[in-house]
This record gives sequence, structure tokens and C-alpha cells, in this order.
Amino acid sequence: MAHSYDQTNIFARILRGEIPNKTLIETEHTLAFHDINPQAPQHVLVIPKGPYVTFDHFCAEASDAEIVDFHRTAASVCAMLGVSLGDGGAGYRGITNAGGHGGQEVPHYHLHILGGAPLGRMLS
Ligand code: IMP
Repeated sequence: MAHSYDQTNIFARILRGEIPNKTLIETEHTLAFHDINPQAPQHVLVIPKGPYVTFDHFCAEASDAEIVDFHRTAASVCAMLGVSLGDGGAGYRGITNAGGHGGQEVPHYHLHILGGAPLGRMLS
């Protein structure tokens, strides 16, 4: 079944400038901004500007340029937050939730980047 994108979701409204956000990085295809309800000392969301619902939807339908830009922007977020191991940082966690079983609340694809403190192991 095809993904159907809800143009009224909160990230679509942020992208249209209807709701303010604390932007960290904006590029041609990608926006990174601080989560409104941080779950770690640093918690940033990276979203594509295009209408994609989940990770797999994004990978299936976005252009190569969008996909590369998204991941390079996410890496730039890690550098800006000082959590990249390559810059001597202590690391971070990247998470994406998809659909009901994934616990996704906002139906616009996003990558959570969390860091700034030990986050513990999620999987054992
Ligand atoms: P999900 O559960 O993976 O869909 O995560 C949605 C995230 O969006 C949550 O961490 C929320 O705190 C965050 N969020 C919801 N509304 C806003 C907003 O207006 N600005 C920034 N973050 C938001």
C-alpha cells in the first residue's frame, strides 16, 4: 500500500513557516531543529523537506540528492553538537520511529539525534 502524507502534520506546518522552531541547520533539502521536549541534554530532529512519512518511504521515493543531503546534514548536526567521535566527542544515538509499532507520533520522517550524557544500552 502506498504511503499517504498528511499535509497538516506539525513538521509540515514548521516547514511552511506556520509554527516557529529552533533551527540548527537548514539546507536545500533538509531542516534540523531542536526537539521541543528534549529526552537528553541535546536532542535535535533532522527532517527532509519533502513529503515522506517514514525512513523506508524516504529511501524509496526521495532523490539521491535529498538522501545525501539529509545524511550529511545529520552528520553536521553531530559535529555542531560536539558529539562526533571524530571531533573528540563522547558519542550520540540516532533513532527513527515508524508507524504504530515504532511509536511514531509525527507522520513526517525524522531522525532523532540525542547526546550530551550516557544514554545506556537500548538493546541487549
Ligand atoms: P516521534 O515520536 O518519533 O514521532 O517524535 C516526534 C518528536 O517531535 C517528539 O520528540 C516531540 O517532542 C517532537 N515535537 C513535536 N512537536 C514539535 C515542535 O513543534 N517542535 C519541535 N519538536 C516537536
